Amino acid sequence: MNTIEQKILALRAELREHNDKYYVQDSAVISDYDFDMKLKELQDLELKHPEFFDANSPTQRVGGAVTKNFETLVHEHRMYSLDNSYSKEDLQDWEARIKKMVDGEIQYTCELKYDGASISLTYENGVLEKAVTRGDGFQGDNVTANVKTIKSVPLQLKGDFPPRFDIRGEIVLPFEGFNKMNEERIEIGEEPYRNPRNTASGSLKLQDSGEVAKRPLECLLYNLTGTKLGVETQFDSLEKARQWGFKVPDAAKLANSIDEVLEFINYWDIHRHSLPYETDGVVVKVNSLQHQEELGYTAKAPRWAMAYKFQAEQVSTRLNSITYQVGRTGAITPVANLEPVELAGTTVKRASLHNADQIEKLDIRVGDEVYVEKGGEIIPKILGVDLTKRDLNSVPTVYISKCPECETELVRQAGEAQHYCPNYNGCKPQIIGRIQHFISRKAMDIDGLGGETVALLVKEGLISNYSDLYVLTKDQVIPLERMAEKSADNLIQGISQSKNIPFERVLYALGIRYVGETVAKKLAKHYKSIDAVMAASQEDLVNVDEIGIKIAESVCAFFASEENINTVNRLKSFGVQLQMSEAQLEGQTEILQGDIIVVTGVFEIVSRNELKKLIEDNGGKVSSSISSKTSYIIAGANMGPSKKEKAEKLNIPLISESDFLLKLKV
Ligand code: AMP
Ligand code: ZN
Repeated sequence: MNTIEQKILALRAELREHNDKYYVQDSAVISDYDFDMKLKELQDLELKHPEFFDANSPTQRVGGAVTKNFETLVHEHRMYSLDNSYSKEDLQDWEARIKKMVDGEIQYTCELKYDGASISLTYENGVLEKAVTRGDGFQGDNVTANVKTIKSVPLQLKGDFPPRFDIRGEIVLPFEGFNKMNEERIEIGEEPYRNPRNTASGSLKLQDSGEVAKRPLECLLYNLTGTKLGVETQFDSLEKARQWGFKVPDAAKLANSIDEVLEFINYWDIHRHSLPYETDGVVVKVNSLQHQEELGYTAKAPRWAMAYKFQAEQVSTRLNSITYQVGRTGAITPVANLEPVELAGTTVKRASLHNADQIEKLDIRVGDEVYVEKGGEIIPKILGVDLTKRDLNSVPTVYISKCPECETELVRQAGEAQHYCPNYNGCKPQIIGRIQHFISRKAMDIDGLGGETVALLVKEGLISNYSDLYVLTKDQVIPLERMAEKSADNLIQGISQSKNIPFERVLYALGIRYVGETVAKKLAKHYKSIDAVMAASQEDLVNVDEIGIKIAESVCAFFASEENINTVNRLKSFGVQLQMSEAQLEGQTEILQGDIIVVTGVFEIVSRNELKKLIEDNGGKVSSSISSKTSYIIAGANMGPSKKEKAEKLNIPLISESDFLLKLKV
């Protein structure tokens, strides 16, 4: 074996181990910076030596493969469903049935029932061969390229694994990552995802695995399938899987009786709310694999396992009416107005109906008695209709075809669930929503002007787009409801002060669809002025780092409108910052792109604040505390001992002030 190959293999082994520590065992030992450096080294070597390509190399995790149509694969071992139970009696009945079929004491493994998308992974000689969705249980979709990007799925096993086996598990999207994804979507004016489970299963079917790699999915394993597995019980198989490198949650517990099973259930019925991901029940499995074999399967499910579903809190109430809301982007959301009812400790009066398809699918009609549930989501949802209580004269809901606010014919683009009102410049809630966005804290941050006042100003005909704010006079606003001399002064002054808000935030404030805070920053940095952004073609925009086709299209569409151009020109004439200031432009580079830097100690050449500004101006990020994410530390004199210790422990490099300045050539 030549030395290059050895080097590649060694790097792969090392990165694999760090990956396992970080994503499976939750205990990192090297900094992200060092990890990235090693990964980059490996990438470079692999690029130069394609003869050593390995589809399971840690470099393959970032994705990139695009699948147009997922291939259908037949499961070697069928993926069964589970029978459900809802009470102690159900479980006791189950035990009685089992006891007739097997001899001896029966032990149970109790596990949590993770709510995600089920997956079957096949390993051959310790290497991930394929990942297939459950499909109809007999055959599913080959989603290997996508699953490989999930960091907690080992691509290469360790220890005494069997030569060939399947392992089943659930791909979930933990709440934290889910909420973060939604915050980002809301910020760019897109509909938030409804729940983690659908988002997880949707992610598996994305065509671009690079997109999947960006989603914080996790894979939790619970079942070994195959022959000669070298284990005798379900509980041991969980432990073994853990040793081979799989992520197996440690909630699983052995129970010697149904009473002990119930203790587990009762415990988790309360404590599940503090888990990082969704669970919808418990799965009880006969522990002995010998027993499992004797029990076998029904047409649909194993006899040796039983799911116990937690009661979601659910009530039924009358649907009084359906109203339609228009958002700032023109998206229409149907809302169910309910007869007020107590649910999970709060009074519920409204529920989201999501879109036209949902109403049609559930055939929801005004006057119906509907079932309402409060699950992981914030807004309660309607599960269905109690048809036994339906009025004989009830008529199917006809979705509105015109905007409830401006009467414009609604449109619905192919592939989109939502209807939109296209009357961008004449639809009140859109106008108000856009101005409210313009003045919001992260945008123009106009002191003394609130959302309600904006609505009033629009209704009174004083403003009809955000550029009108800059010509408002005190005399015009004083007559408004609840407006005193002082607050009118504050309002006018606040508007005037917003002329100092830097360009990147103005760009965000314009409310271009898909242009959130970060995208606005990127565009501002790249183009430096609104004129350059306006002049950019779609191809031009796509070439900017992290700007995709959807954003590019939206930016071009925005500036294709004469009205928008007029508005921007007016803003310009009032002195709003529509280009980077001289001060901002000076000394800006991307040298530190991707670096997360901690500054600590006392400095001699420049001040600490100057250092921080230098970092940001050159594309880096300043962080106040040392973590595994820190790239390096700029250490001045008298660095604290605890910081020093932490840096050593996490292997984070220290550099001096002068070396840092040298790096930037200042
Ligand atoms: P159901 O879809 O309601 O029939 O429930 C069966 C599904 O529960 C299986 O296909 C698995 O995807 C999922 N599941 C979640 N957690 C577990 C677990 N610990 N053991 C077995 N199945 C589980
Ligand atoms: Zn409208």
